[in-house]
Amino acid sequence: MEKGFTITYEYGGNLYVNTTNRCDYNCEFCLRHNQSSGGSIYTHNLWLKREPTREEILESIESRDLSQYGQLVFCGFGEPSYRIDDICWVIDQLHAHGKRPFIRMDTNGTGCLINGRDICPDYEGRFDKVSISLNDDTAEKYNALCHPQVEGAYEAMKAFAKEVHKYVPEVMMTVVDTIPQEEIEACRHICEDEIGATYRVREYIKD
Ligand code: SF4
Repeated sequence: MEKGFTITYEYGGNLYVNTTNRCDYNCEFCLRHNQSSGGSIYTHNLWLKREPTREEILESIESRDLSQYGQLVFCGFGEPSYRIDDICWVIDQLHAHGKRPFIRMDTNGTGCLINGRDICPDYEGRFDKVSISLNDDTAEKYNALCHPQVEGAYEAMKAFAKEVHKYVPEVMMTVVDTIPQEEIEACRHICEDEIGATYRVREYIKD
């Protein structure tokens, strides 16, 4: 593996696709803060020395035996929505080559703001699941935790979760277990009752 250019990597039975370093957030718990001392699950350096082209992403995925993985997960060491057009192209190529793995995207849910358009229809027929970081139960707490560089990120994220569910069979929303229990329960209410998504409390991954 070329140092600083890990496009695909295995974790937990899935194949992850590292598409970008770019992110419009600076979350307190982000793994990007933990990359210096090593020893985490991220044994590769996921900080890309440059963004892979869509052809390089496709080549890296197709060099793997996709039957070995439960899911193909588009993520990034940043926010994958920056690459939505290229990711859709890659998925279309996989389909054209007769490959139909279960496909998920992990996102902060601000892809429509990032791209300046409604990207939700792009998910139809391409993604089986979208996992969105809900993170906290109010915009104020969310902003303090995630430090979004865009205005209205919290509401935009929730609107995205609701809208993308029209195009994707499963939408999951997650929080990290470092927030207080009452906030975990308030987030469950937002996720399940307000948005109609599946809820998951994620364990904080230490370095
Ligand atoms: S949205 Fe994800 S990649 Fe971006 S800062 Fe937060 S945890 Fe890190």
